[in-house]
Amino acid sequence: MKRDYLVFDPRNGYPRGKDIFYECERCGDIIPSQPEDGIGCTCRNIFIDVDAGRVSVKEATKFSVFK
Ligand SMILES: [Zn+2]
Repeated sequence: MKRDYLVFDPRNGYPRGKDIFYECERCGDIIPSQPEDGIGCTCRNIFIDVDAGRVSVKEATKFSVFK
C-alpha cells in the first residue's frame, strides 16, 4: 500500500476522513482517523475519544497521518 503522508498544523486540529489513518511511530500501530468506538495505539501515545470528538497525542513527533 502506498502511503501519502499529510502535512498539517496540529493547532488547527488533526485531519480526519474515511481514507485517513494515524500512525504511531513509537509502537508502530496504525489506527483509523474515524473509528466507530474510542481507540488508541498500544503505547497510548495516540488516543481517539469518539464521544468527545477529540484526538489526543502525547508525543507529536512520533505521530504521522497518511491516506
Ligand atoms: Zn503507540
